[in-house]
Amino acid sequence: MHTTARSKDHDAFRKMARDFLTNEIAPSFPEWEAAGIVPREIFHKIGDLGVLGLQVPERYGGGGVDTFAYSAIWMEETARSHVHLGGLSVHMNVCIPYFVSYATPTQAEQWLPRLASGEAMASIAMTEPSAGSDLAGIKTTARDGGDHYVLNGAKTFITGGINADVVLVVARTSTGARRQDGLSIFIVDAKSPGFSRGRNLDKLGLRTQDTAELFFEDVVVPADRLLGEPGRGFEYLTSNLPQERLSIAIASQAAAETALATTTEYVKSRAVFGTTVAAFQNTKFELASCAVEIEAGRALVDQALAALDAGVLSPADAAKVKIYCTELQGRVVDRCLQLHGGYGYMREYPIARLYADARVTRIFGGSNEVLRTIVAKSIGL
Ligand SMILES: Cc1cc2nc3c(=O)[nH]c(=O)nc-3n(C[C@H](O)[C@H](O)[C@H](O)COP(=O)(O)OP(=O)(O)OC[C@H]3O[C@@H](n4cnc5c(N)ncnc54)[C@H](O)[C@@H]3O)c2cc1C
Repeated sequence: MHTTARSKDHDAFRKMARDFLTNEIAPSFPEWEAAGIVPREIFHKIGDLGVLGLQVPERYGGGGVDTFAYSAIWMEETARSHVHLGGLSVHMNVCIPYFVSYATPTQAEQWLPRLASGEAMASIAMTEPSAGSDLAGIKTTARDGGDHYVLNGAKTFITGGINADVVLVVARTSTGARRQDGLSIFIVDAKSPGFSRGRNLDKLGLRTQDTAELFFEDVVVPADRLLGEPGRGFEYLTSNLPQERLSIAIASQAAAETALATTTEYVKSRAVFGTTVAAFQNTKFELASCAVEIEAGRALVDQALAALDAGVLSPADAAKVKIYCTELQGRVVDRCLQLHGGYGYMREYPIARLYADARVTRIFGGSNEVLRTIVAKSIGL
C-alpha cells in the first residue's frame, strides 16, 4: 500500500502514524466500538502529534503543509491498523479547510489554534431530515437580528456530533432567484443556549464514529460568527467538495487494499479438504481480480492527489474518483468476505468490519447517484 508520496519526510510521517495507531489506538479500539464513540481526550493526543492541524497555517499553530499527501498517509495507516477514528477525518479534511479559507483574522485566531490542538473538535451540519441530497431544500433558518442571528431547525446524521465543541451549521438567511441562494454557514459553539444533541445514532458500520441529530432552538449566534458572506454558503460548500470527496476515495481505496492484504493471509492459513483455501484456482482468480482493480484505483487516487495539490482537481473529477473507489471498495470487500466463509460474517474477523463500514461510502459525501449527475453534466448531458 503506498501513495505517490515517497519522500523521506513522508516515510517518517508514515512510520510515526503507524507506531501511534498500532500502539496507542488499536489496543483500545474494540472497547470504543462497543461504546459507539472515540473518547474525546484521544483527539488531544492526535493534536499533539501535529496531525489535526496539518493544513492549518503555522502562525495559528498548525503544520502549514500545502499538500494533501500527509492526510492521505494518515488515512492509509488508519485503515492498515484496522481502526477508525470517528469524526477525525471530517474535522481535519472537511471542517478545518472552511476555517482556513473563509474565517476572518479574528475568527481564525479564535478557532484555528484550538482546532489544530484538539482543544476544539468540529462537525459540519448540512443534512436535515427532509434535505439530504437536495441541500437547497434546507429548512433551518437564521433570522437576522442586527448584531446577531437567531437559529432554528434540526440536523441529522452529523458525524462527530456528540464529540463536537463547534459546529459549522448551514442555515437559510434569505431566499433568492435560485433555490441554492440564501444559504449561510455559521460557527456555532456547542455551549450555546438552545443547542442540543439527540442520540448517538445506531449505525450498521463505522461503529466508533459518533453520528448525531442536532437541534437548534432560538440559538443566538453573534453576527461575527457568520463564516464568509451571508447567502454564499452553497458556493463555499461546493468549492470545498473536491477535497472532501477525494478524502472519502482515499479512505475507500485504503480499506480495499487492507481487505486484500488481510484476505490473502487468511486464505493461506485456512485448511479445507486437506489443502488451503489459497490453493483453489477460484481463490487465486478472485484475489487476482481484486488486485487488478485495486491497482487501477491506486493510479486514479494518486492522479487525483497530484491534481488537488496543484489546485486543478475539478468537481467532476473528484466525483469520478469518489464513485470509482467507493464502488471498488464495495466489490473487493464482498469478494474477500466470501473467501472467509462463515468466519467472514463474524465481527471478530476484520473483514466483517471492513464490509459493514464500506456500505456507507457510496451514500455520504454526495451519494454516487448525485455524483453521477455531476459527471453527466461534465460530459454535456
Ligand atoms: C454515517 C453518515 C455520516 C454522515 N455525516 C454527515 C455529516 O457529517 N454532515 C452532514 O451534513 N451530513 C452527513 N451525512 C448525510 C449524508 O450526506 C446524506 O445521507 C446523503 O447526502 C444522502 O442524503 P439522504 O440520506 O437524505 O438520502 P436522499 O437524499 O433521501 O436519497 C435517497 C436516494 O435517492 C437518491 N437520489 C437523490 N437525489 C437523486 C438524484 N438527483 N438523482 C438520482 N438519485 C437521487 C440517492 O442517491 C439515494 O439513493 C451522513 C450520513 C451518514 C449515513
